[in-house]
Amino acid sequence: MIIKSFNPPRRILMGPGPTDISPQVLSALSRPTLGHLDPLFVGMMDEVKWMLQQTFITKNEATLAISAPGSAGMEACFVNLLSPGDTVIVCRNGVFGGRMVENVERCGAHAIVVDDPWGRAVSAEKLEAALKQHPEAGYVAFVHAETSTGALSDAKALCQLAQQHHCLSIVDMVTSLGGVPVYVDEWGVDAAYSGSQKCLSCVPGLAPVSFSPRAVEHILRRPHKSQSWFLDQSLVMHYWSGSGKRTYHHTAPVNSLYGLHEALLRLQDEGIENAWARHEAMHQRLVSGLNTLGLKLVVPEGERLPQLNTVWIPEGKDDQRIRSYLLNQYNLEIGAGLGEFAGKAWRIGVMGYGARNENIALCLSALEDALENA
Ligand SMILES: *Cc1c(COP(=O)(O)O)cnc(C)c1O
Repeated sequence: MIIKSFNPPRRILMGPGPTDISPQVLSALSRPTLGHLDPLFVGMMDEVKWMLQQTFITKNEATLAISAPGSAGMEACFVNLLSPGDTVIVCRNGVFGGRMVENVERCGAHAIVVDDPWGRAVSAEKLEAALKQHPEAGYVAFVHAETSTGALSDAKALCQLAQQHHCLSIVDMVTSLGGVPVYVDEWGVDAAYSGSQKCLSCVPGLAPVSFSPRAVEHILRRPHKSQSWFLDQSLVMHYWSGSGKRTYHHTAPVNSLYGLHEALLRLQDEGIENAWARHEAMHQRLVSGLNTLGLKLVVPEGERLPQLNTVWIPEGKDDQRIRSYLLNQYNLEIGAGLGEFAGKAWRIGVMGYGARNENIALCLSALEDALENA
């Protein structure tokens, strides 16, 4: 077998993630590797932490990037907070809410599942009814931006309900962070997790998380250790704090963190509100073009996620054939439907660096061609 260096083509990534990465972030990844306890690297980690706080809009001291993908961020929130026998209300309106249920059960806790239809936001009324019916519940968990369906839920209202019923809130912000307004402190989110490869437009494999002082106290007060050594935040926090006195926990993914630093810096330079507005403007532009092509969105207006647009596949059109055509003729990737939507809908991501005019224009003209000629 003759193996050569791997040189992938430049694809335009307009699926549910990973997303397009800017040349600046790609070049940051190739800078010289430092030792992970090198004072210069430690200083850079402090800056990453500070920029993550600006992005989550929080003063939470326990804000850091877990050295693993978004799924590990999800797991970190559950294994650190939950104890066996605890009750958690999980609002489920797509695939990722289903994974939350799975996490709860694997912690030996009890999940009360509040279901909403796929393609719709989580219903605050249903959550309120469940909270009244289950005073034993200690937590509320939900997905802010359901990437499997493209629905955006009212995180502020859901977290307020959790607080009124003395529950800690666990919120999936994997796709929302950097793409739509996220206010961790103002909304009273207790545990938030995200991913590097969605609207932050960095390489996959890092999970920004943020824990409120209430959540940290809860973690430190638990009588038993978390079942996961790697994700145990009481250990990981020491690695991300106490400048100068850092202790080794695991080897940080040094170059990936250079990438995250650069991606967060891009976001700081643009201004977080401007980034949200850009996602909304690109979404509007995409939707109006899709309408012109006769394509219909799955999610009703008012509950749509600007950065992830779920579109019904027109009657008689072949899902796989059209997506392959886009990939082979245009180097353009759009997402397939997941779960209930497999084969029925496409997911078009307008995320981070990918949320720009040229991508929208390309996507619309390529789709027009594919619908006719694939
Ligand atoms: C992508 C995604 C995840 C999982 O992130 P990975 O980095 O793929 O592990 C979790 N929740 C939501 C809402 C996502 O979109």
